[in-house]
Amino acid sequence: MRPSKLSLIAPFYNEGSGVDYFFEKISPVLHDIQNIEWEIVCVDDGSSDDTLERLIAYSQKDTSVKVIEFSRNFGKEAAMTAGLDVSTGEAVIIIDADLQDPPELIQQMIQEWRNGAEVVLGRRIDRSSDSAAKRLTASWFYKAHNKLAKPKIPENVGDFRLMSREVVDALKELPERQRFMKGLYAWVGFKTVTLDYVRANRNVGETKFSGFALWNFALEGFTSFSTTPIRVWTYIGFAIAVISLVYGAFIFLRTLMYGNHIPGYASIFFAVTFLGSIQIISIGMLGEYVGRIYMETKHRPIYIIRKKYN
Ligand code: UDP
Ligand code: MG
Repeated sequence: MRPSKLSLIAPFYNEGSGVDYFFEKISPVLHDIQNIEWEIVCVDDGSSDDTLERLIAYSQKDTSVKVIEFSRNFGKEAAMTAGLDVSTGEAVIIIDADLQDPPELIQQMIQEWRNGAEVVLGRRIDRSSDSAAKRLTASWFYKAHNKLAKPKIPENVGDFRLMSREVVDALKELPERQRFMKGLYAWVGFKTVTLDYVRANRNVGETKFSGFALWNFALEGFTSFSTTPIRVWTYIGFAIAVISLVYGAFIFLRTLMYGNHIPGYASIFFAVTFLGSIQIISIGMLGEYVGRIYMETKHRPIYIIRKKYN
């Protein structure tokens, strides 16, 4: 039987201290899999440390190690996109360079793929390696996103996954520049199998996603896959109009019956500030979408490659 080819894609951003660990852990796992050949696509996402030099050194020793050097930091979503674009395997696995997701699962993923799965997801059953705040906000995000957007994205599933060539080709058809990969993966569909695992702590280096970066990421997710946040203002507007009409009628009748007593500074002040803020929020929401349309219409490339090695 002809061996099948696996492409392993790993985005690296300032992971210099973890490069040796990465190859030390990955190599035996790949060698243990029966009847397979592979390439390891390492995308250097504009690291400012020695990540690139270290990756190039590995690529010189081993032709299965391909390195893509970005011209600057384009973000993890762009790095994964580049990896998918150059990958040639019949199966593709994306894994974080810090190996927080267990490479041992790769063997099982391949098994599921050989049994007919087109997508094999890794699901974290225990997120104790993330901070309490990150866990809580992540769970809010999934709940809100899945209420608003279609298709739903599975909870606690990261980018660690196997995809067959058909799935990767489908993903490459999606032209958007602003890439919320979790949503795009869900959007293309395909036969999916989920494997549970426990996520380890980061071995070296530190997380690149915290606070505001995660907030922007969540906003990207909502606005890329749902128009509810922008359409909801129509209904809020109607609701406020109805309330105002009822209140207006009440004032009118009260004036007819009891005459015009003390003028209502308080209610006017409230109405002006409340409506004012509602309008500004809705314009802001509009702006989120217009901004995204603006970015998309420029048709800029998702990433720029300075050089490829191997
Ligand atoms: N990463 C990247 N570009 C970035 C930020 C992160 O390629 O701008 C990579 C990073 O090197 C790692 C993966 O994305 O391989 C996940 O990052 P991290 O471990 O910081 O995220 P966390 O595991 O904390 O969610
Ligand atoms: Mg990590």
